[in-house]
Amino acid sequence: MSIRFCSLASGSSGNCQYIETEKIRILVDAGLSGKRIQQALESIQVDPKTINGILVTHEHSDHVKGVGILSRRFNLPIYVNTNTWESMRNSMGKVKEENIKTFTTGDHFEIADLGIESFKIHHDASDPVGYCINHKSTKISLLTDTGHVDEEIKKKIKKSNLLLLESNHNPEMVRVGRYPWPLKKRILGDFGHISNEVAGETITDVYTYDMKVILLAHLSQENNFPELAYKTVSDIMTQSGIDIKKDVKLDMTYRSKPSKVYTL
Ligand SMILES: [Zn+2]
Ligand SMILES: [Zn+2]
Repeated sequence: MSIRFCSLASGSSGNCQYIETEKIRILVDAGLSGKRIQQALESIQVDPKTINGILVTHEHSDHVKGVGILSRRFNLPIYVNTNTWESMRNSMGKVKEENIKTFTTGDHFEIADLGIESFKIHHDASDPVGYCINHKSTKISLLTDTGHVDEEIKKKIKKSNLLLLESNHNPEMVRVGRYPWPLKKRILGDFGHISNEVAGETITDVYTYDMKVILLAHLSQENNFPELAYKTVSDIMTQSGIDIKKDVKLDMTYRSKPSKVYTL
């Protein structure tokens, strides 16, 4: 039995990823209004009532805006590490105590037929994580909102069959752009977001033939263009000998519409 994946939305205006197996349907982050997430699910023919839970990466509102609403509306458990929950709980409204499923970063746990592993990333939030999600021999890794990618992270995301990876900005566009300097420093810093170049280098560092789909995610509206992100990453991959047409599918995610639905 296979696993299906769709990025419902990705970017600083809201992030929400959807994963489905025969037994379970989960969201990773819910950083849009409940209504928009429901509409996005319906647009890929998924009834929002059939969702079983939400995994949270970190407390920034572009990742958690709809978490409380969806948990109340559909009685959904929220899987979140303790520090992140402490940082977000006040903005969630009332959530049923039994629906708060806290873990410690690095823990492995299961949700139905999914094996979930969280790993530490480097971002200006209380305890931000990426996720590896395993179903039988298939592995999906999600890595956005990190200022740099260390060896530990590379080890975790190796051998993924699908990798959703941040390709946030072009550093030159950040430097010459209209953002105030403190915000520029944050984006370019070690605890901000990774650039198109770093995304390309990360892919070439972790690439194996297991990797079938790579999705570029969390693109900045202000400091990037989808075409530029795609070209920068694909050039770096091609230079290191990866055949984008033959070896792997390199695709985009979108700020305001779902990606394709991938079956692995
Ligand atoms: Zn974000
Ligand atoms: Zn963030």
